[in-house]
Amino acid sequence: MAESSGGGSAIWFIIARVAGAVVAGAGLGLLTGSVWAGIAVVLGGYLALQLLRLHQLDHWLRNRSRLDPPDASGLWGDVVALVVRLHRRKKYHKQRLIETFRELRRSTASMPDGVVTLNAENEIIWMNRMAGELLGLRRRADAGLRIGNLIRHPDFQRYLNSAQHTHPVVIQPVTAVDQWLAMQLVPYGEGQKLLFVRDVTRQNRLETMRRDFVANASHELRSPLTVISGYLETLASDPGIDPDIAQPLGEMRRQAERMTDIVNDLLVLSRLEADEGEVGGAPVDVAAMLAMLRKDAEARPQRPAEVTLSIETDLQLIGDEGQLQSAFGNLVDNAVKYTPAGGRVALRWWVDDDGGHVSVADTGIGIAAEHLPRLTERFYRVDAGRARATGGSGLGLSIVKHALQNHGATLAVESIEGRGSTFTCSFPPRRLAGAAQQRIRA
Ligand code: ADP
Repeated sequence: MAESSGGGSAIWFIIARVAGAVVAGAGLGLLTGSVWAGIAVVLGGYLALQLLRLHQLDHWLRNRSRLDPPDASGLWGDVVALVVRLHRRKKYHKQRLIETFRELRRSTASMPDGVVTLNAENEIIWMNRMAGELLGLRRRADAGLRIGNLIRHPDFQRYLNSAQHTHPVVIQPVTAVDQWLAMQLVPYGEGQKLLFVRDVTRQNRLETMRRDFVANASHELRSPLTVISGYLETLASDPGIDPDIAQPLGEMRRQAERMTDIVNDLLVLSRLEADEGEVGGAPVDVAAMLAMLRKDAEARPQRPAEVTLSIETDLQLIGDEGQLQSAFGNLVDNAVKYTPAGGRVALRWWVDDDGGHVSVADTGIGIAAEHLPRLTERFYRVDAGRARATGGSGLGLSIVKHALQNHGATLAVESIEGRGSTFTCSFPPRRLAGAAQQRIRA
């Protein structure tokens, strides 16, 4: 705004100057005998002066960094002052930008995690020192190259090409077999991405140790438990046993059975956890599996009045039959356990645009909202006393969650306390297979 405020007066100044030159030229012409020649000479001189000023300005603009601004007054002086002002402002902003950028670089460079910025084509724009070290990349030489060509791990390639980056992918770099890296992509701007790289070797080792310990401990506990259960069974079934001992013996037997259930569930869980990534498998006849589970439920002495089954598709589910059986079996088991005799349990298998879904709904005791987020944790029970009485190990829903995770599936729980619950397993469309396909394979 300030730059244009002098525009109006400058025009009048020019007009006045040109008029002055014309008058001066005419005066000179009168003296020499030719008015027009006088005007032409003065105007020519004036034009030459302006061209000289223009040349000086051009020369200075081209060599601004070395030369001082030309000494000019009037309009040319205004133009020079304006350019100087604009230049100073631009320099100031540029300096600030550079400082901010340096600050940002300094802070990301000292981060304990690796950071790589990628453009929309997944080419490396920049990376910090840690990223170079962890990924074995050269910061300067590899800039501009596609990250997919440099990190060729198949899990990372899949992650890079997928649209979903909510969870990090953990890979073992080819260069360091004993190292684990968690890689997380965060999109920003127009297709650009930030890639965070973290060394998770220690966490991974601890996790493996924990998993191995649980698996080994469960395995070791199984044999002595089988012996104890066997003897207790034999003792309890002896008709001549002292009635004073019969009751504690019965309780010991029940507890031994419970312990066996927990150990078995722990073993199932550690086997499920041992599967890295998604399982493949063959088409599984979900309808037949649910029909079998329904039959089992109806055969129990304590069960809800009604167990229904609704099969709404003849598609199959590609997966591990044992794991799926375990997941659906646990859900049906819970529904039967936590629904009173007069209630109802409904099993359903259907397909929609989102994929295939199996739901187990009951009209049982339901679960209060505050417990829902923690239900799938190991040994989490809403009511420990009741769960123990019903013989639950507290591992059922953990098994369901892991079995589903291994199939790229999710578990959704809806429940109203006192009214009932619905557990829905949702499988992605890629897990569905036509019934005909299964016949051909068979
Ligand atoms: P448990 O072996 O104790 O049943 P789970 O992991 O299968 O362990 O379930 C965890 C807890 O979730 C149970 O203790 C129970 O309180 C609750 N729960 C699971 N399913 C149902 C259901 N259908 N209705 C009511 N509560 C349920």
